[in-house]
Amino acid sequence: MFYESTRGGLKSKSSAEAIKMGIAPDGGLFVPESPVKLSPDEIYGLVNLSYQERAVQILKHFLDDYSMEELVECVNLAYTKEKFGSDDIVPVVKLNENVHVLELWHGPTCAFKDMALQILPHLLVKAVAKTGETDETVILVATSGDTGKAALEGFKDVKGTKVIVFFPSEGVSQVQKMQMVTQEGNNTYSVGVNGNFDDAQNGVKAIFTNDSMNDKMSKNGFKFSSANSINWGRLVPQIVYYFSAYADLIKTKEIQEGDKINIVVPTGNFGNILAAYYAMEMGLPVNKLICASNENNVLTEFLKTGVYDRRREFKKTSSPSMDILISSNLERLLFEITEHDSWLITEWMKSLKEEGVYTIDPDTKKKISKNFWGGFTTEAETLKTIECIFNEYSYVIDTHTAVGIDVYDKYVISTGDMTKTIIASTASPFKFNESVVKAIFGENSINNKSEFELLGILAEKCNLTVPDGLKDLDKRPVRHKTVCEKEAMKSVVENILTI
Ligand SMILES: *Cc1c(COP(=O)(O)O)cnc(C)c1O
Repeated sequence: MFYESTRGGLKSKSSAEAIKMGIAPDGGLFVPESPVKLSPDEIYGLVNLSYQERAVQILKHFLDDYSMEELVECVNLAYTKEKFGSDDIVPVVKLNENVHVLELWHGPTCAFKDMALQILPHLLVKAVAKTGETDETVILVATSGDTGKAALEGFKDVKGTKVIVFFPSEGVSQVQKMQMVTQEGNNTYSVGVNGNFDDAQNGVKAIFTNDSMNDKMSKNGFKFSSANSINWGRLVPQIVYYFSAYADLIKTKEIQEGDKINIVVPTGNFGNILAAYYAMEMGLPVNKLICASNENNVLTEFLKTGVYDRRREFKKTSSPSMDILISSNLERLLFEITEHDSWLITEWMKSLKEEGVYTIDPDTKKKISKNFWGGFTTEAETLKTIECIFNEYSYVIDTHTAVGIDVYDKYVISTGDMTKTIIASTASPFKFNESVVKAIFGENSINNKSEFELLGILAEKCNLTVPDGLKDLDKRPVRHKTVCEKEAMKSVVENILTI
C-alpha cells in the first residue's frame, strides 16, 4: 500500500513515511493510493476477536510496511485494560431498540482522541526507525484543549521522543488546564501562551517552517514532527472502532451479518467521520453517515448547498472541541469522491485559503449526499438533550455527544429512517461537567462551584465514579509552570531542547 498527496505533489510513499511526515510538502494530506476492500469473511471474522486483535486485522491492510509482530506490539502497548478501564476498550451501550452509543472516551484523558493518540507514538517511533532516521523526534502541538492532553499522555515516556504542547493560558477549561500542567513523564512539556488558540497555532506553524530553526535542530540531533489530526497515523486507528462496534452488535444479536447501520459523528475537523467513511468504503454495511455540528455549522451548510464558506463569526460553544471553521480532513473526502482529482482539490483549497470559500460541482455534491446527511444543534438544544437523555434513560452524556444525539433526532424526523444507529460518544460527561450538571440539575446547582467540585457532585447525584484521569486533579502537583508571550514560543522550545 502506497500513499499520495491530495494536492498531487507526491506519490508512492510508504505508510511509515506518510506517518513520519504528517503533512505532504505540497500542503496536501496523505491518502492511500488504492482502496482497501475487506471480504465478508474478514468482516464477520472480527466478531469473536478481542479489540486488540480486531485492530491488527484492520491496520495490517493500511500499514503493510509494518510486520505483524510490530503491529501487535503497537496495539498491545496502546489499548490496555489499565488505560481503558476494561477489556472492552470501546463499550457499545444500548440506549433503545434503535440507538447504540459507542463510548470512545474510556482512555486516560477521557476524550476520544486517546483512541488515536495512544497508538500513534508507537507507530511513529517504528516509522522513524524504518526510514533510517536517527534523530530524536520532537512533537510540537498547539491545542484548544483535548488534543494537547491526549498527545502528552500518548507520548509520555516513549523512547526517542519529546512532546511540547502550547495551550492558550486562559483559553481552556479548568479541568483541561490542570490535566496539562500536572502531566507526568520525563519527556513532556506543557506551556501556556498569553493569547488565544490561533496565536498558539500560528506560533507552532512558524517554528515548524523556520529554516534556521530546523537547521539548528538537525545539528543537535532533533527533528520536528506533528501529531495533529491530519496525520494518517491518527486517522487509521479510528477506522477500527466502527468495525468493532458492528462486530459487537452482531455478537449481541442486535443485527445480523449484512444489516446496514447508520453512524452519527459529532464533528469538528472531520477526522472521526472520515474514518467511518473509509470503513464503509472497505465494506462495512452502512446506510448513512450523519455529520453533527454545533452552532459553527459550516459543514451542515456545505452538505446542503455544496458551498464551503468559512467567512463567518467563530462561536464559542459548550462543545468546544467542535468549534472549528476549517475542517481539514474534508480535503481527503473530496479527493476520494472525485476519484483522486488532485487538480480540482488544489483549486478548491486555494480558493478556501484566498477567498474563504469554495463551491463543489453538482456531480461531486450528489455523490457526497448519497452517503452523508448533515445537521446542527443550538446551545439550548444541546443542554435540553443532555437533560432529556438523563430523564428518559438515566444515562449521562457530555455536550459533544448531545450534539450527535440531537442531530440524529432531527435526521429521524426529517427522513423517517429507522435503521439501527450507532452514535459516536466522544467525551466523558465528567470532562465537560459544568454544562452537564447545569443541564440536568439547573443553573443554581453550579453557582460558585469550581469544575473540580462539580466532578464530585456529578458523581454523587448520578451515581457514577469520577474517572481516574480526572480524580483529585486539583490536588496533584503542578509540574509545568511556564507561561510565555506568543512571540517567545520559539525560544521556549530552544530552552527545553537546550539548543
Ligand atoms: C476532537 C473532538 C471532536 C471532533 O472530532 P473530529 O475528528 O475533529 O471531527 C468531537 N468531540 C470531542 C470530545 C473531541 O475531542
